[in-house]
Amino acid sequence: MSYTNEELYQQDKSNYLPTFKRFPLAFAKGKGSRLWDVEGKEYIDMLAGIAVCNVGHSHPKVVAAVQKQAAELMHISNFFVTLPQVELSKKLKEISGLDHVFITNSGAESVEGAMKVARKFAHKHGRGGEIISMAKSFHGRTLGTIATGQAKYQQGFEPIPTGFKQVEFNNLPALKEVISKDTAAIILEPVQGEGGINPVDKSYLKNVREICTEQGIALIFDEVQCGIGRTGKWFAKDHYGIQPDIMTLAKGLGGGFPVGAFVCSSKIGDAIDYGDHGTTFGGNPLACASALATLSVIEEENLLEEATKKGEWVRGEFENMKAKHGEIKDIRGLGLMIGVELTEPALPVVKLLLEKGIIANATADKVLRLVPSLNIPMEDLKKVVEEIEKCLSETMIEHE
Ligand SMILES: *Cc1c(COP(=O)(O)O)cnc(C)c1O
Repeated sequence: MSYTNEELYQQDKSNYLPTFKRFPLAFAKGKGSRLWDVEGKEYIDMLAGIAVCNVGHSHPKVVAAVQKQAAELMHISNFFVTLPQVELSKKLKEISGLDHVFITNSGAESVEGAMKVARKFAHKHGRGGEIISMAKSFHGRTLGTIATGQAKYQQGFEPIPTGFKQVEFNNLPALKEVISKDTAAIILEPVQGEGGINPVDKSYLKNVREICTEQGIALIFDEVQCGIGRTGKWFAKDHYGIQPDIMTLAKGLGGGFPVGAFVCSSKIGDAIDYGDHGTTFGGNPLACASALATLSVIEEENLLEEATKKGEWVRGEFENMKAKHGEIKDIRGLGLMIGVELTEPALPVVKLLLEKGIIANATADKVLRLVPSLNIPMEDLKKVVEEIEKCLSETMIEHE
């Protein structure tokens, strides 16, 4: 039985909760940096499932690890121990330099867990439970995580949980003004993803770290999008040489399999008592096997170096393009987490690219977001850069 893109698009429309404004495209197959839709058209994927498929679609080593583990043991409860979970915890400790690991099923769940641990720590030390987040941040879609985020995600879902405050990103006086005895934690993305690829300022982050240390406030880095090699280091924090008290992960961790985690210092983690937090699926052997395989592929294929090298090349190409195209306003990012800010909305460019067989994304209205797999071939990147330049010329003509 084969379907067309349009048929599946219409069926989806009549069955699925109408919350995703989807493109009329249905995908059937992925391999590395390439995708194929149900009609057989091939695409270069510059979105990688929104910064998820860092080792490429269906990496053979991840596939093999998941197949093997699925045949042996998929799930037991967290009342018991498994080798894949022990190994993954060890690995995450080693690469993060933090002490305690908790494995989850998604980014939002990692952030929820991180905020709970921070509150427990704060209450143990006589502080309130308030959590300060940044404007333009994104931490997920649960009630607790939308309380930290942008107003557009809160509308219609009131009452929004209380105990949250938001300040302008990279603005130290604004942050200082809202910190009080009630502050339990400050949460930020070292490189904001959904907010338009905005890296944190180094001196700001250093100051935030100092304030948190002095006052016993937990500093949470949300590395759900910028972690797992995306920026050319294991974590974006490694570019800054600054250690958080808690770090959240997900997206790239499982190479396409849904798995997240939060890791914290022993100082924070020791505030947790038996029964304080839990999960049914989180950390099951199948999820852990996918993550272990993904992390070892990143090491074996030198994907941190690859991301650094390719990211520099792509940003350089856009800098050259900027000199010729007034439509490019700014180029931001680290490694293969790249934002090209345009003077116009980015969606028409994304649509034009899609017709040419390139999947990209528009975020924060005018930002073209490029987050391909870290092992994408240079030839693909060259093609993409060429096509984007052509699209900019075409959309410019349309606007005139
Ligand atoms: C995607 C994202 C989340 C939410 O992850 P989900 O798996 O969708 O719950 C949280 N934080 C950041 C920085 C993200 O990019």
